[in-house]
Amino acid sequence: MTPAAFEPRGKRPPPDRWPWLRLWSIRHARGLERLYEGFERALIAMRPMFERIGFARLERPVAALESAMKGALFDCRMCGQCVLSSTGMSCPMNCPKNLRNGPCGGVRGDGNCEVYPAMPCVWVQAYEGSRRMEGGDKIAHVQPPIDHRLKGASSWLQVARGAP
Ligand code: SF4
Repeated sequence: MTPAAFEPRGKRPPPDRWPWLRLWSIRHARGLERLYEGFERALIAMRPMFERIGFARLERPVAALESAMKGALFDCRMCGQCVLSSTGMSCPMNCPKNLRNGPCGGVRGDGNCEVYPAMPCVWVQAYEGSRRMEGGDKIAHVQPPIDHRLKGASSWLQVARGAP
């Protein structure tokens, strides 16, 4: 599996075509948080079944499904270590600088990105989404450095495996 296979077309969204579904997801962060909590419990409960089938065998189809669903909803970049529930349902990998612990110092006065002036800053959106969530204070947790070996892997299967 090549990580690039799961990269949405066009590495970065053109600044004049901000994906509206991404904004919808942030506006509905609380509902998505509830949905994900249930989904996470289901994934953990399904672990014995996944083990019987084999995680390696499941990786490719599950990653493809995850990429399609989360690509549409969050513009997911398949980093393999999902932190959406800590970032107000705003995917930090859409930050052109890939910052996972808050915004850079270049956020514009209107809340838009320094690199793409027409794009709302991913972290401004993350903060707004987090205020709608019950567990929104997790946004203050420090995220560990990203493990690039997991790029392209399914974070759903990571959850089922019991990875932190
Ligand atoms: S944090 Fe990673 S897995 Fe989660 S939506 Fe963003 S790129 Fe995808």
